[in-house]
Amino acid sequence: MPPYLADYHTHTYISGDSHSTLLENITQAHRIGLSELCMSEHWNLLNQKGERLPTHYDFAPVLQQWEELKNTWAGRIDVRIGIELGNSTVDTDAVEKCLTLPELDFVIGSLHSTSLSLGGVGIFTYAKSCTDPTLAQRVLEDYIQQMEELAQAGTFDVLGHIIYPLRYFPAEFHLSLDPWQDRLDSILRQVIEGGKGMEFNTTQGSTIRAWIPLLTRYRALGGEIITLGSDAHRPACIGAGFDQAVELLQTLGYRWVCTYRQRTPQFHSIV
Ligand SMILES: [Zn+2]
Ligand SMILES: [Zn+2]
Repeated sequence: MPPYLADYHTHTYISGDSHSTLLENITQAHRIGLSELCMSEHWNLLNQKGERLPTHYDFAPVLQQWEELKNTWAGRIDVRIGIELGNSTVDTDAVEKCLTLPELDFVIGSLHSTSLSLGGVGIFTYAKSCTDPTLAQRVLEDYIQQMEELAQAGTFDVLGHIIYPLRYFPAEFHLSLDPWQDRLDSILRQVIEGGKGMEFNTTQGSTIRAWIPLLTRYRALGGEIITLGSDAHRPACIGAGFDQAVELLQTLGYRWVCTYRQRTPQFHSIV
């Protein structure tokens, strides 16, 4: 039996950096045989310039998209409501009040921006114009510190794309998270002890092997809760890289991939 595959990190036009519709994403997910699709639109507390954004999220457009399609698609593919929450530690208390929506199944905790002490600018924006590896190291140090705060706050179900900054800094910097391994271990331990997980984010199928060090550590520390996400901003990227991702998880000793119902992990065998 093929493994139960679910894309738990997808965007539509509601995210602002995608033109996809939910219908296009569902159609593609169904076409490639996924059992589930989770909508995880952006809700960032900081924009790329470092300006603060609302600490309240209006789920109505998200719910409405699914409401309009539900009758046609229910029973053919399971669609879940999630959110990709960026830099929630800017105001953890306010954010938590907004996460009580009964329809909300899943929360990805991401860090797209530097901390306010570094100006809060988008890591993507910063990295693309960065010419000094020392400054890049400073951003990584700040990133790890923010992740420690996020792990402590626990305002998520899975930590989002932990290797995010490595996607964008110039390749010739040869950056890695290795210098922070001890602190990352502590973060992962906290995640595991708190019953939370991490996502294996394939970045539209382009990052698979880059996850090996982190997946190896997480498993060694007892981590089992993994969701798979393509981070698709285009329908064609839904489920991208999942075959290789599952193969890698199996090789590294993982037995399950997870989906979520009302913020609770559901385990699906991959062995
Ligand atoms: Zn993200
Ligand atoms: Zn995303």
